[in-house]
Amino acid sequence: MQLLLTLVISLALTTGVYAQDDSISLEELEQLPPIPAEYGTLSYLEKVNWLNERLNEDINVVEEYRLQRMLAFEYDDNGEPTLTNSICESHPPQSFDFYYRYTCLAVDDLSYEQRISKLFELHEKLLEEGWVEFAVSVLAEIGWMQSSSGNIKQAFQSFEQALSLAKDQRVPWLVLNGVMQDTATLYIMYGDANYRQKGMQLHKHILERTKALRDDNQLPPEHAQNTIDLTYFNLGVANALHERDYEKALDWLGKVNLEQAVQAKSALVFSALSAVELGKAELAANYLDQSAQLEDQDPVVERYLACYQQLVNHKLNNQDDVPACHNLHPDTQLEVKLDVYKRMSELESSDLRIEGHENFYQLYKSTLQNQLKQSSSAMASSAELSRLQLESELQKDLLEKEELLKDAERERRETQSNLMYAIIAIFILVVVFGLLQIRQKLRQAKRFKALSQRDSLTGLHNRLYFEGRIQRELDAVNLANREEDNKRLAVYLFDIDYFKKLNDSYGHDIGDEVLKEFARRVTHALREQDMLVRWGGEEFLVVAKVDDEDDFHNIAQRIHKAVTQKPFILPNGLELPVTCTVGGVICPYLTDIDQVPHWRTLVQLADTAMYYGKSQGRNRWVCINEIPTKEVEEKVLNEGFKSLDKHQGVKLKTSNDQ
Ligand code: GH3
Ligand code: MG
Ligand code: MG
Repeated sequence: MQLLLTLVISLALTTGVYAQDDSISLEELEQLPPIPAEYGTLSYLEKVNWLNERLNEDINVVEEYRLQRMLAFEYDDNGEPTLTNSICESHPPQSFDFYYRYTCLAVDDLSYEQRISKLFELHEKLLEEGWVEFAVSVLAEIGWMQSSSGNIKQAFQSFEQALSLAKDQRVPWLVLNGVMQDTATLYIMYGDANYRQKGMQLHKHILERTKALRDDNQLPPEHAQNTIDLTYFNLGVANALHERDYEKALDWLGKVNLEQAVQAKSALVFSALSAVELGKAELAANYLDQSAQLEDQDPVVERYLACYQQLVNHKLNNQDDVPACHNLHPDTQLEVKLDVYKRMSELESSDLRIEGHENFYQLYKSTLQNQLKQSSSAMASSAELSRLQLESELQKDLLEKEELLKDAERERRETQSNLMYAIIAIFILVVVFGLLQIRQKLRQAKRFKALSQRDSLTGLHNRLYFEGRIQRELDAVNLANREEDNKRLAVYLFDIDYFKKLNDSYGHDIGDEVLKEFARRVTHALREQDMLVRWGGEEFLVVAKVDDEDDFHNIAQRIHKAVTQKPFILPNGLELPVTCTVGGVICPYLTDIDQVPHWRTLVQLADTAMYYGKSQGRNRWVCINEIPTKEVEEKVLNEGFKSLDKHQGVKLKTSNDQ
């Protein structure tokens, strides 16, 4: 055993791939007592402390695994790859633990090829497990990696595959939208004229879909607005820096919601840039004034926006020097640096021109030359080289600069110049998309985090997700009550009737198919903002904001009807009638006090209502509208409804009353 362990460890170390011993099962992990809800409210450091304290207690290996992986997620979320990696090595991910596997892959010291092949492996496995949205996101991640290492052709293929998979399998809009944004950005960044058009089309499609979903109340308005603003901004930047259609750029950037969008300041600065290029001095000055009143949250962005503002001012003849451009933040993305230096090299002042040329050339030598070596074959493809034509002016400038510097390396450089200009042209056109790229990455990280809190069979959120969210929902209701706003919260628990019998008669696989179809139907019956969770086994939970009791009953009715209205048609053609029983409670439900109870009490009450429904013959819904006193509540929790004489003033509504 000892020997085997040493072998496995040394193998893991030499290949850089974590051992997967699968000594723990998913069931064991799921059977652990839940993490206290308060955990979700802790800060990063408090979480790390809390986890370390638990780890020092006398715990079994399953609990240790759970806590260690949670610690790894915390470290990863907070940009601590070394710490994350050390946990991945000491507590390697179990093979069923996809999200942890993904996290460890991201921090492992793998070569590009190894990482891509591991990601493909994960992607295949996720598809087999039917976890399509995660599989799609992994494919998009592969696409990003391929693109950033110059394998543009393969990257396009990965994105196209991800897109068609996402469309065929009808993954939720959140995931599809993310993949479309990434694809569109990539097409515009690296594609030829054809692909750039495709990219713009995709952006416009995102706009239409998002607006339609918003108008249909299927997306929370804030989420929709963020997507719309990001897309307007993407389209604006694509036109300003890529198509060089400054009129269109102004149009799109002008649509960004300046009150709310995170890109507000950037949008104003790029509008100023576009206006000045069009010779509209007054308009440019106006945008500049507006931009001066805003601040971007990111200090790096703030610094290069200052440089762009000065460049515009310089063109407006209001300013000689561009001090912020001499002094860009060291973390400024390569693409932004290149654009800034290129713009400097086009200025009238010879000092600034020379500085621009020099910086440009230094950057080329220090960074791009390497990139060029690594990916020269990909870069030399005809689509990329055709960019050269666009950049002929730059070529002239660079040659001029070579004269100016009388560089000793001149000859050597000249032999390389063709490829060099090709790659520079590509990188220049990436400008500011670097910024988008980073935003995209952030969003992607969030997307993966969301996916870790999902059930692998149905793709629904799991209990972990619920526990991290419910307190916030209750706090909101509490606040609303205090402010006399009548928003109320409803919790429903529901369970498939006679599911054991179904499993026994048709087999576990058919049971699984029923669960998936069940989840799909209920998802469609609910609104986007309702929280649907697989609570365990064939039990599901919904948390929904409701206006009044009618609303509360309607949702119970919708869930029940979605399941029972038509028989389930399974992939093998089998038709099965399926029923379920729904129990619900509305909060606040106590008439004598208005304090919001603990979420466990709410779930227990919904459970009691559901069991009452089961005992009355199943295939129905039961809603608790009101409980008169704390004592009656106590009694309901302990004994259920049967023992209560006429329910002692508890107001119930059931589907049979209608
Ligand atoms: P009732 O109407 O009272 O709810 O009866 P029931 O048979 O549905 O009740 P019970 O809750 O006892 O049975 C649930 C069954 O669901 C038992 C378990 O084997 C099965 N089950 C739980 N999780 C899964 C799963 O992921 N897939 C499949 N196929 N079956 C599952
Ligand atoms: Mg059941
Ligand atoms: Mg059950």
